[in-house]
Amino acid sequence: MPDLIAHGLLAGLDEIADTGRDRRAAGYSRHLWEPAEHELRAWFTERAERLGLAVETDRNGNTWAWWGEPGADAVVVGSHLDSVPGGGAYDGPLGVVSALDAVARLQAAGFVPSRPCAVLVFAEEEGSRFGVACLGSRLLSGAIDADTARALTDRAGITLAEAAKTAGLNPAHLGRDQAALDRIGIFLELHVEQGRRLIDLGEPVAVASSILAHGRWRLSFTGQGNHAGATPMTGRRDPMVAAAHAIVAVQKAALANPGARATVGRIEAIPGGTNVIPSAVTAWLDARADTDDQARAVVADITARLQAPHSGCAATVVEESWTGTVTFDPELAARLALALGGVPALATGAGHDAGVLAARLPTAMLFVRNPTGISHSPEEFATLADCLAGVEALDTLLRELL
Ligand SMILES: [Zn+2]
Repeated sequence: MPDLIAHGLLAGLDEIADTGRDRRAAGYSRHLWEPAEHELRAWFTERAERLGLAVETDRNGNTWAWWGEPGADAVVVGSHLDSVPGGGAYDGPLGVVSALDAVARLQAAGFVPSRPCAVLVFAEEEGSRFGVACLGSRLLSGAIDADTARALTDRAGITLAEAAKTAGLNPAHLGRDQAALDRIGIFLELHVEQGRRLIDLGEPVAVASSILAHGRWRLSFTGQGNHAGATPMTGRRDPMVAAAHAIVAVQKAALANPGARATVGRIEAIPGGTNVIPSAVTAWLDARADTDDQARAVVADITARLQAPHSGCAATVVEESWTGTVTFDPELAARLALALGGVPALATGAGHDAGVLAARLPTAMLFVRNPTGISHSPEEFATLADCLAGVEALDTLLRELL
């Protein structure tokens, strides 16, 4: 362990510790093609080139760093550098830093890969800017239609196509990239655990078995905008009140559907004035469950509960993204768990780029224990010892696969 620290491993987390700090939300806000995210990409490029890796950005904004010649049947290891608003330091960056460190360790040991290898950073994993999670891997694999993606807008109304152009990409080239996809033989993602299972098991590292079915829906409420003082309380058509009742209905629906998780974490009022009854309110629903049917059932239940919205307002429910239950390649997971001395296999409620790719190619994930059990929050954490155990595990697996 101490020799790992002596070799400067995991220093990458310190190097980016000041990038994208969010004073209002606390933690980090690192969103696609915004200054902090550009800074992280520059850091990644510099770090990878220092290891002699050849860095390229594909036509969907994902950044690859090749160890040796790019080619087919590569072992590709990576994660993401963007964050949710006010996110933690480990969700994403731990996987990227650990991948670079595992390569550095193998190089230092004189290991020579027998197949191509790359470290990959996916763009917009959290969907914090354009609303669709795992956008980079969805575009790469064709899991999202290119025209649909190009028309996505951020909070300022900028389309993905416009933002891509500003970032130096050709918007016409966004979408399924078969040539890039065909190079991946196996994709491996290390990630901080976003729950408490490893704490309970007393283990630093696990492999992933599956990901819950999950998606995002836009709940829109419209009413009558009006003056907060001059409008009597009776007869108001206040969409904020309709939204408040709907949010309580979301919780009730999730509690009535065992195993389901439903959350409203973002709400927007139009026009958004303290002395103004809003004319419209949008709330975003995140719903998840063990199976596709269970997730669909809870959303159907929520939709039914919104049929007669409060206050005489109108309500609509629009699906923004959907990912069915993901089962990671069981043979690969078993092989990797064995190579690591029999580590446990865990299901997770969090979505990942690895989950998007799992539908198309052999994919595996490693989780590193998070002693707070909290994620998407500044309280997310991993001890240095557990991070080092993660790098060692990646090192072992790359030796096994390369
Ligand atoms: Zn993540």
